[in-house]
Amino acid sequence: MHATIQKSLEEILGFLDPEEKVMVVGCANCAAKAKSGGEPETRAMAERLRARGVTVTGWAVPPDGGSLCKLSATEKLLNEDHKEETEAADSFLVLACGQGIHTVIDATGAGMVHPGCDTIFGGETISESSIIEYCSLCGQCVLENTGGLCPVTLCAKSLLNGPCGGAKDGKCEVDPDRDCGWHLIFERLQKLGRIDLMLKYQPPKNWLRSGSPRSLYMEGKRAEFTFANQTVSAWSGAEEPLEGTQKGDDA
Ligand code: SF4
Ligand code: SF4
Repeated sequence: MHATIQKSLEEILGFLDPEEKVMVVGCANCAAKAKSGGEPETRAMAERLRARGVTVTGWAVPPDGGSLCKLSATEKLLNEDHKEETEAADSFLVLACGQGIHTVIDATGAGMVHPGCDTIFGGETISESSIIEYCSLCGQCVLENTGGLCPVTLCAKSLLNGPCGGAKDGKCEVDPDRDCGWHLIFERLQKLGRIDLMLKYQPPKNWLRSGSPRSLYMEGKRAEFTFANQTVSAWSGAEEPLEGTQKGDDA
């Protein structure tokens, strides 16, 4: 999921012109889990803005745990279910991640959008009160040789082939308050009885795959991942592919 934190009310108020009529839009999936833009937070934001003299035309959150970043659902939410409030608004304050903000642009076409949240990372929902980043969405996964722990994310230097040698008592030389990612990987491989994987050479990653903006198109049994003017095709479907699953210009 995408972790988000709400911006301060003062920062948000600074985005709005005195006469601006704004609609507040939240997300019932990630932003709800992060408690930054679910239904209670969205309703509360509308009330807080009204209390500060802002004209709020209404507020909306996708029903049934829906994601704001799903275009068809957001089009229905804003252009059908909340048509009047949407049409009355000069702008939208979006309590969701940057993907949700862009979905509101695509769904409404007109109108300014204001970010109500900072999008901070993609992470695992550990519990209702904890989200932790374990993947930096690099576009080329190397977890096969690391027992499933990500060196790109957990190592301060994103080293791919073992530790830098500076760790002390399991803590990172860059920041002694954090665990050394490679120490964690070593401990995990030891537990799995697969220390041999530490010796496997990981070739340099194609970092172009992590560059933005990236896109994914899916059609029939093909998925096309495009980055930096390159396209890689992958298998997308339940049946067995006839050949390898990835093809393309990947360097
Ligand atoms: S190697 Fe890349 S894709 Fe795999 S977990 Fe790490 S950041 Fe995510
Ligand atoms: S001490 Fe560990 S986590 Fe820190 S940079 Fe070196 S290998 Fe990476």
